Amino acid sequence: MRRHLLIFLALVAAAFFVVWQSQEIILAYYLLSTIWLLPLYYFFREKVYGLFAVSTIGIFFLHGWFFRIDPNPRMIVLWAVQALLFAGFCYYHWELKRFQDRAQESKENVRKSLESFQAKYQTRLGSLRHLEVQVSSLMNLFEIARDFSECMDFNTLAEFLLKKLRSELAFERMQIFLMPRVPGKEPVPMKVYSMLQEGVQEEERVLTDPEREDFDALAHAKTMVRREERWYFPIMEGNEIGSVFAIHGIKEEDLARVEVLSAYLVLLIKKIKLYETVRELAIVDELTQVFVRHHFYERLEEELRRSIRFKLPMTVLMLDIDHFKRYNDDFGHLVGDATLKEVSDLLKRNLRRVDLVGRYGGEEFVVAMPETRVANASEVAERIRSSIARHDFQVYNVKTKVTVSQGITVFDGAIAAQTESVDVKVVAAELIRKADEAMYRAKEEGRNRVCLHKDIKRP
Ligand code: GH3
Ligand code: MG
Ligand code: MG
Repeated sequence: MRRHLLIFLALVAAAFFVVWQSQEIILAYYLLSTIWLLPLYYFFREKVYGLFAVSTIGIFFLHGWFFRIDPNPRMIVLWAVQALLFAGFCYYHWELKRFQDRAQESKENVRKSLESFQAKYQTRLGSLRHLEVQVSSLMNLFEIARDFSECMDFNTLAEFLLKKLRSELAFERMQIFLMPRVPGKEPVPMKVYSMLQEGVQEEERVLTDPEREDFDALAHAKTMVRREERWYFPIMEGNEIGSVFAIHGIKEEDLARVEVLSAYLVLLIKKIKLYETVRELAIVDELTQVFVRHHFYERLEEELRRSIRFKLPMTVLMLDIDHFKRYNDDFGHLVGDATLKEVSDLLKRNLRRVDLVGRYGGEEFVVAMPETRVANASEVAERIRSSIARHDFQVYNVKTKVTVSQGITVFDGAIAAQTESVDVKVVAAELIRKADEAMYRAKEEGRNRVCLHKDIKRP
């Protein structure tokens, strides 16, 4: 305001100076009139309406005063010119204002669209970054999944999954359930591998009640099932669920990745299961569920090495069913097979978990009892003999009896340890030959009995 006032005063002073100096009153008048327009316009433009009013009144008075001094008709023309000039100024100002407003408006519009464009850009950028993260994490999963194929058993797979996915996915726990081969009405224990933050847990157990409910839903759906924060992916074997991959406590946004992962896992679990079945078929006799001969030999050799290292005794027992040819002739091969299976069950029932049992020939079994002396082995053999002899074999309404003859031989790890080099393959073959020899003696002596090898001195 003060600035405006100063300008105004400066102009008034200038006007008076010019008038005072001028000899030509009309010239001074022209000059003044032109100069007066400027503050007028200026105050009007700056919206200083008070000063505008004062200066307008001032101009009127000055005009009046000049006209009294020099009443000249040219002054009327001059007023008109001045009024036109002022109107011109105002019009120019008004146009300028309109132009400025329009410019401001379009500037505002440009700013708004720029802002909305920026917002859109930021959103796109955000989703692009999210996509980038997802793609990179999917790539990681692909990498991990490719490495899965290295795993050939469930334990390795569980360890591997835990190690690789701990940093990739937030989860509470993952589980692999291997359904029992022969599902029964009663809850049957199954293998469960749990991958927890603290490590892998391998169990053989029946399902808990909440798990049972989840599995019932799964059996009904036969496809991926979500139960609260638990996700189950079934692996079908024909029309039945063969195994289940479960993951607990994952975030909603991770679901897509879990689905990709599970697709791989489902295939892999199928493969490992098949691999394990094949491996088991190769080492376990299908009918009697004991080791096949060559696998028994492998395990026997391992046990022999251990016996030598720790100087432990080991007993080998050969068992053959008496008159089995005749038995087959009398009751048929199907009854013979079922009896063979039952004999093998009775045999296993009388042995420890550490004992090795193999099917040596048709109806001949071989047993290796680590850390067992002859006296103990004889007791075990006698228990086997009597339990088989007393057993009623009931097959297809046929009730029968069988007996077995057994031969025993012993291996002394302490003595073998003193020998320079022991070929366990030779020792194994020798032990089996001797047990066989003893078993034939039992046959000769009348069957349904246990014989020690002739080299063994009874304690
Ligand atoms: P021994 O008391 O002298 O042993 O008389 P054996 O008749 O049992 O004679 P041997 O041990 O040589 O008999 C073998 C018989 O066992 C031949 C075959 O009929 C029967 N056998 C062998 N393997 C099987 C099998 O897998 N199933 C059935 N049902 N019978 C078998
Ligand atoms: Mg026989
Ligand atoms: Mg035989």
